[in-house]
Order: sequence, then structure tokens, then C-alpha cells
Amino acid sequence: MRTYKKVLIASLALALCGPAAAQFGGFKLPIDPGKVLDTAKNFTEKTKEIDESKEITIGQEFAASLLGAKPLLNDPTLQRYINTLGRWLASQSERPDLPWLFGVLDDEGFNAFATPGGNIFVTKGLLARMHNEAELAGVLSHEIGHVLRKHYVKAIQKNAVAGFGADFAASYINKGPAELKTFAAGIFKDIYAKGLDKDDEFEADRVGVVIAARAGFDAYGLPAVLQTLQAQNSSDRGFTLLFETHPSPTDRLEKLDKLMRSRFESSPGSQGRSFEERFKEFSR
Ligand SMILES: [Zn+2]
Repeated sequence: MRTYKKVLIASLALALCGPAAAQFGGFKLPIDPGKVLDTAKNFTEKTKEIDESKEITIGQEFAASLLGAKPLLNDPTLQRYINTLGRWLASQSERPDLPWLFGVLDDEGFNAFATPGGNIFVTKGLLARMHNEAELAGVLSHEIGHVLRKHYVKAIQKNAVAGFGADFAASYINKGPAELKTFAAGIFKDIYAKGLDKDDEFEADRVGVVIAARAGFDAYGLPAVLQTLQAQNSSDRGFTLLFETHPSPTDRLEKLDKLMRSRFESSPGSQGRSFEERFKEFSR
């Protein structure tokens, strides 16, 4: 229950971050073509790296913006369940101590989102299409993979440099938490509309199957979800964003195939309990 409340607080915090976003949008950005050519490396040096506490602050801001666009589903049992499952998976990772938070969004589309620092959301529409717990574990572990490998931090560095120039972006990131939040709110839309690098998606798939297997689930859960997506018409509105921001399911399955055959074929994990049974457990 505590976790659910925390997520709700994050959702409520949105009311406070709206003006920050508007404020950022109102800036006259001093875009100088020369600065756009600054490299991400240069930017990283100027920001002395986005360290873990900055990563968490940016993630909170992204989570608030995500929840502003798509609110949490009002179902405490389900929110408790997704947090328990998600945290169990995250505890198998190399960053178990991040403030991991999981949530189900009240949205019929099929999608999952991660933010830096460990906030992870799946849509109600995605949950409804899961055949078993191992599939859901596969999806959550893919998102956990993005957090572990700091894919969003990388995207922020690339995006900020291209859009604002290293000096301008670094001046915001280095000032303090308030400026950092303003900066995060300003780049949020761009980051999530563009999606991550293809190679980062493939890496999250590889990390995801390993985490799911370590947690005791069938490692083929994620490939099964990719097969569902493969059979899906990509012009279906509920899937548009996912197909636009990810490599094709066929490419993802091909890349996973080698790893799966060499490492997981002989060690089948669990499909997990039925969702019906789980929800009974969590509604007690
Ligand atoms: Zn992804």
C-alpha cells in the first residue's frame, strides 16, 4: 500500500511540475549552430556525468510527466501486484538498491515505459494481452534492462547536445535539483516520442531474458510477447507508439534467437501462477 501511495504522490506532483514545463517551453533557446556540433563526450565532461542522484531526479520528473499524460489505473490490488513482481525482478539485477517503482497505467494501448532511476509503467492494454506471468516478467525485465544500462541517460545526453548545445544543457544539469527538473520536463516529450537507439532495445531484450530467468521465470516469456506483436497489425492505433519506437518484433526475435538457444533451451523456468490466483493473493 505504501508503494501505491508513493506512486499516487508522484502523480499528484504533476500539478506542480506543469508550470516548470511551461516555463522551460517559454525560454528563448540560444541555439547556435556551432554548439549543436558539440559531442556527447564533451557534454558528459561538462556535466561530470549524470550521477545516480541526478538520474533519480530526472526519472521522477519523467514519471510525473508520463502520469500526467496517462494516469495510474485505480486498482490498488493490481498496483501492489505489479510492484511486488517488478521489485522481485529488479532484486535480481546489478542495481537492486535503486528506488524501483512499478505502475499500471489506465490506457487501453499496448505499451511499457521506463524512466532513468527505476520507474517502470505498463499499460492496462498490455496486461490484458499477457498469457501468463512469465510474459509479464519478460516485459518488465526488458524495461528494467533499459534502467540498468542507463539507456535513457544516454538518450538525454545525445538529445540535449543536439537540441541545446552542450554548454546550455550542462549549465542546467549542473545547477541544482530545481533546474535539473526543469531541464527534464523540457526534454521529456522528445525523448519518449523518438524512443531509444535500436541497439539499446536489442540490449534490453538480452538483459531482460537473463533477469527473468534469474528470477525463476521461463526465459521465453519475452520472446512469446514478441511473437504476439509479430502477429499484430502495426497500423492498429493501440500499438502505433510501440512500433514507431522499437525495432520490428521479427528483428528482435532474430537477435534473441542465438542467445536463447545457447543458454536457455535446456533450463525451462516457470510460467508463473495464473493471474486469477495472483490477484486473489494480493487482494487479501
Ligand atoms: Zn525498450
